Amino acid sequence: MPKILIVDDSPTILMALETMVRAMKFEPITAESGERALELFAAERPELVLLDVNMPGIDGYETARRIRAAQPDAWVPIIFLSANEYDQNFERAIESGGDDYLVKPVSPVVLSAKIRALQRLDQMRGKLVDMSKELSAANQRLETLAHQDGLTGIGNRRAFDHVIEREIARALRSHEALSVALCDVDHFKAYNDRYGHPAGDECLRKVSAAIARSCRRGTDFAARYGGEEFALLLPDTPAEGALKVVETARHEVAAIAIPHEASSTAQVVTISAGVATFLPEQDKGAAAFIARADQALYRAKHLGRNRCIGA
Ligand code: GH3
Ligand code: MG
Ligand code: MG
Repeated sequence: MPKILIVDDSPTILMALETMVRAMKFEPITAESGERALELFAAERPELVLLDVNMPGIDGYETARRIRAAQPDAWVPIIFLSANEYDQNFERAIESGGDDYLVKPVSPVVLSAKIRALQRLDQMRGKLVDMSKELSAANQRLETLAHQDGLTGIGNRRAFDHVIEREIARALRSHEALSVALCDVDHFKAYNDRYGHPAGDECLRKVSAAIARSCRRGTDFAARYGGEEFALLLPDTPAEGALKVVETARHEVAAIAIPHEASSTAQVVTISAGVATFLPEQDKGAAAFIARADQALYRAKHLGRNRCIGA
């Protein structure tokens, strides 16, 4: 049974309201002062509060203010009860956090109608809160999807473009080395021709997982840069360290041993990689930095593939 907290310093009124509320199928909880009401409000979590305005100690307005302050994100309807019907009192009641105002003696019919109206508002508010939670969860999912490659689940080109700008700015501030690697699957056109496009897709998934596995630091970032090309961004990593990471990636890919009968390089799927380390004076921005890694990749292809070359 939903609970209603009834607050009034007069035992007679308290008893009368208690009887009314019980008849409306609520569980009444009674407090004879504002102080006691605050304790019971915290302990019993009522669904609604009937609050007398004039009480010794803290009055109804102050009690309402404290109830609201204690739960800034929640809302429990508060109906003020007073013997006084001056307009200013009504205004003060609303300002202190009340939702409605009834003049005593209270008619059971009016009280019951007001309670139902406020319950309806509370339900609508609850639905709004649920909807806004769902909305923010959906936005979160969209945000993730916008940065994820659909086929492989690692970062996409858009995420990479964003992260490289951020990391270049960071490297310029911190004077730490920043390396980038471009990894390209060898003879992948021939793979597709030999095994079919769906098998090609599956191959890219496995290769991307192997490459991503080689990035061990939390700050390392792997993305699908284009069709069968992957990019690794390695903050705080000089050329020598970057080559080690990329060599590991190359071994990881070879180790999963995806058969590639149409390759003239090996019997399994292999990758070639070009690595560059950011040179603030020379590179200026991301484009020139990536271009150097791309030139290194081109050389790796020319030197026979299945190898990593530094710029
Ligand atoms: P190289 O060793 O010089 O890199 O030769 P390559 O055949 O790998 O390079 P090329 O650029 O000629 O061909 C890349 C192929 O990758 C062509 C394209 O059909 C295939 N490809 C690109 N994206 C995807 C994809 O998402 N799925 C599949 N299955 N194939 C893709
Ligand atoms: Mg290729
Ligand atoms: Mg390519």
